[in-house]
Order: sequence, then structure tokens, then C-alpha cells
Amino acid sequence: MAYDFDLFVIGGGSGGVRCARIAAQHGARVAVAESTYWGGTCVNVGCVPKKLMVMAADYGMQVQDSRGFGWDTQRGTHDWGAFIAAKDAEIARLNAIYVKLLTGSGCTMFDARASFIDAHTLDVGGKRVTADKIVIAVGGHPLRPSMPGCELGITSDEAFHLKELPRRVMLIGAGYIAVEFAGIFAGLGSEVELVCRPPLPLRGFDHDLREALAEALTAQGVKLHCGTAPSKVEREGDGYHVHLMDGTVRHTDLVFWAAGRRPNTKGLNLEAAGVRSTDSGAVVVNAEQQTSQPNIYAIGDVSNHMNLTPVAIAEGHILADKLYSPTHRTWNFDTVATAVFSHPPMATVGLTEEDAAARYPVDVYMTKFTPMRHTMTGRHSRTVMKLVVEQSTQRVVGAHMLGDDAAEMMQGISIAMNAGATKADFDRTIGIHPTAAEEWVTMRTRTRVAGVKAKAAE
Ligand code: FAD
Ligand code: NDP
Repeated sequence: MAYDFDLFVIGGGSGGVRCARIAAQHGARVAVAESTYWGGTCVNVGCVPKKLMVMAADYGMQVQDSRGFGWDTQRGTHDWGAFIAAKDAEIARLNAIYVKLLTGSGCTMFDARASFIDAHTLDVGGKRVTADKIVIAVGGHPLRPSMPGCELGITSDEAFHLKELPRRVMLIGAGYIAVEFAGIFAGLGSEVELVCRPPLPLRGFDHDLREALAEALTAQGVKLHCGTAPSKVEREGDGYHVHLMDGTVRHTDLVFWAAGRRPNTKGLNLEAAGVRSTDSGAVVVNAEQQTSQPNIYAIGDVSNHMNLTPVAIAEGHILADKLYSPTHRTWNFDTVATAVFSHPPMATVGLTEEDAAARYPVDVYMTKFTPMRHTMTGRHSRTVMKLVVEQSTQRVVGAHMLGDDAAEMMQGISIAMNAGATKADFDRTIGIHPTAAEEWVTMRTRTRVAGVKAKAAE
């Protein structure tokens, strides 16, 4: 049967755009549908505007800190409107680049929502379109936990378009988004509270780093409410009352749900195409990104694998190669570095001490110090760096850092780990002085032994 296209990609975000462009470069006849904004979450309401906001907050802190170096600076007021306008102009520029990339690669673009009619047929903005293969790359959306008053709060989608900086913000959640926006709002001058279900923010990250982050947030003036969760939100004058499970009621001007995301599969009519999904709506895929329907694939956040832009891009690229090219590019998904752009940032690659220690005995090397800059500024900001080493092979299996430039450093560490570096490889590397980064190669004294046979191995 002749189809309208060889490949139809639903979703013009990080994963979908890469998949479509590479497939088109390999000679496939490709179409892409995007319902909202080209470039998807990352460019429009995710990584990029978020990082610009992190930078905006950084500048305020740096102005304050510069006094420690003799500058007669006063922290002035921040013009939220001017910043948002500049940010919007930059996002519009990036949108245009995405459109240009797709048109330049010969893809047919639909500014429309797509849904399945059957395994080879889509409804694209009211038009029937057929394709041999279909890729679901629809990403996700922020979750509002269901409770009375949940509609009164905003999510990250709206946070990028607030008319003004709120005086008081209450973030609900303690994952990436909550922690990043706590730093943004506090850095710009808001009073920030953060409601965190576990005893420490960022469940799943290394324990020592989580402790250090909680300390850093507190030092920044963020009020943490750990071990509790909201039960309802009520409007109170111009602000809100947030009722917490521990019986307390907090007052705020802005409630911000940062309580996770869900895949955008509602309304896709997956059943009509025989595509299976989980209870939370994530499309089920095998190692080849193939769904339960052999001609349909899913990439990026919609499969809820590792919800990061570079992962979505890699999945899209690998899939396009597999489908339309004799040669395949590969990526290693075991050592994916990731960063939380908190203040200071946190970055990590490989196993946490807890996860590694559950598998085998490990040597742990850790250092905590006040970075040189802050010995002069007086800002309470400690850097923590940690290496987790598999004892039997001496391979570095985890690297974790909280501190300035952590994200920039971790990319290099992840290359070393991808290459199978051992602790001895780190040790025979000469450092760059004076930097914090040199600590990665000068941690000589083991902090502790951990793991299933820790006692015996010590
Ligand atoms: P998306 O980029 O979400 O793209 C999906 C696209 O599909 C969207 O444009 C959507 O409009 C479209 N769509 C949905 N349904 C349909 C339909 N039926 N028809 C047509 N189009 C449809 N990751 C990082 O690596 N680093 C970061 O610093 C980072 N920061 C983030 C900050 C925030 C606030 C958020 C929310 C996320 C952040 N992420 C970050 C995660 C990152 O944005 C996602 O992992 C990434 O965008 C996923 O790409 P994707 O292609 O799977 O989906
Ligand atoms: P996360 O999954 O990272 O965190 C969700 C948080 O919300 C957790 O702390 C969770 O607590 C909490 N939570 C969930 N439900 C409730 C509730 N009812 N009451 C109180 N707390 C609740 O989600 P985010 O929304 O922060 O981010 C979504 C994803 O986007 C991230 O996982 C990441 O993949 C990606 N992202 C990446 C970034 C980066 O790379 N820098 C930045 C931003 C997002 P608990 O731990 O108890 O479940």
C-alpha cells in the first residue's frame, strides 16, 4: 500500500524534531505535527527559559557578592517585565531556528494536533494522513495533584509568563523543578517556602548531596517543610492558604505545583492503533523504542524513561538511524550525567553511594569545602564532591557534586566514566590550579568503605 509518508512524527519537541530531521536526511519522506510550539517543552517552557531565569537570579547574587571583592555595588531592583520580554524574544528566535531546521531538511510540517485513527492513519487537524511508520514524541505536561483548590496554583508552564515577581511563593514538590525554582525566586527576592514529602529534597539522588542541598536552600532563605504534603488550598484575600498534612496552614501569594509530570497521551486514541500504555499514560516500549504495535515507536518523555532533553534527542536519532540508515550512531544510557540547576547547582553521573553499596562493596571519597570565592564574599555556600568506586575493580561508578560549576564539570567526568576510568586514572591526572575541579583528581584519602561486604573489605 502506498502511504502519504514513510514516517510521521507526532510532536515537534526535542526528540521528535531530531528523529524527523535525521530520517529525512537518510532519504525518508517525513512529516511532523506540532500542536502548540515548535521545539517542545525544553525550548518553550523547560530547560532554556529555566536556565535564563537561573542566570537572572545569579546576577543578583553576584552583585551582592562583589562587595566582598571591594566593589561599591548596591543590589538594585530587578525589572521582571524587562527580563520576561528579553527571555520571550530569545525563545522566539529559537522557535524560528527549529522551524528552519525542519523545513531545511525537507520535512512536511503540520501546525496541528494529531491522533490515531488506526495503526497507519492519523487525524491531523481534521485531515486524514497515512504513514508506513509513526513515532509518538508528544512529551508530557505538569501534574496538579488532585485535592480541593488544586486549580488555584500554577505549574511550571505558567511560571514562565507571570506578570510580576511574587512576593511570597510556596513550591509543592521537591524534585528538579521545585528545587530549581526555589533558587530562582529566592535569588530574585521572593520569600520562598518548599513543601517536601520526603525528609530531604530530591529523592533518588545521593544522600550526602541531598543533605548538603537542604543546607544550601536554607542558607539561601528557603523555608523547607519536610515530611509533609498539602491537603487543600484556599483563596484568602489576594493570597492563598495552603493546608499541610502536619496540621499547619501556610499563607502565600503564589502556589506552584512542582509535583511531577505525566505523558501527553490523553486524546491520542492509542487504543485505535493497538498501542499499549501504563496507568499513568506512558507508552510502553521495548529496547528498540518499539510499541506493542510493530510499526509505531515512542521516544522521549512519553515513554517516561529518563525525562531529559539529551535522552529524548538520542532516542530520536538512534531510531531514525535504525529505521533508515545502514550505519547506526550509539549512545551509552548507563552513564547519563544530569544536573539540577539549583543555587548552587548539583550534578551527578552514575550510581549513588546507596545504589552502588547495595550491589557491591565500594570505596567512597568525599570532600566538603568553602569555595575560594566565598571565603571572600562571606556567603554560606559549601561545595561537596564525591566519588563512588567499585572496590574490586577500582572503577569509578558514581560522581556527585553540589557547588558552583557542578554541571559544567560533570560533563567531563561522565566522559571519563564512559571510558571506564578507575580511581587510579583520576589519581594520575594532574589538576588545574586553583580550581574546585582539581579536587576530582586530588581526593587521596578514602572517606569510608560501604556496601554489602563493607566490614570484610575494610
Ligand atoms: P517535548 O519536548 O515535550 O515535545 C513534545 C511536543 O509534542 C510538544 O511540543 C507538544 O506540544 C507536542 N504534542 C503533544 N501532543 C501532541 C499531539 N497530539 N499532536 C501534535 N503535537 C503534540 N531536561 C534537561 O535535560 N535539562 C534541563 O535543564 C531541563 N529543564 C526542564 C525544566 C522544566 C521546567 C521542564 C518542564 C522540563 C525540563 N527538562 C529538562 C526536561 C525536558 O524538557 C524534556 O525531557 C524534553 O523536552 C522531552 O522532549 P520530548 O521530545 O520527549 O517532548
Ligand atoms: P520530579 O519527578 O523530579 O519530582 C516530583 C516531586 O513532586 C517529588 O519531590 C515528589 O515527591 C513530589 N510530589 C508528587 N506528588 C506530590 C504531592 N501530592 N504532594 C507533595 N509532593 C508531591 O518532577 P518535576 O516536576 O520536578 O520534574 C519533572 C521531570 O522533568 C524531572 O523528573 C526531570 O526528568 C525533568 N526535569 C529535568 C530538569 C533538569 O534536567 N535540570 C529540570 C526540570 C525538570 P516524592 O519524592 O515523595 O515522590
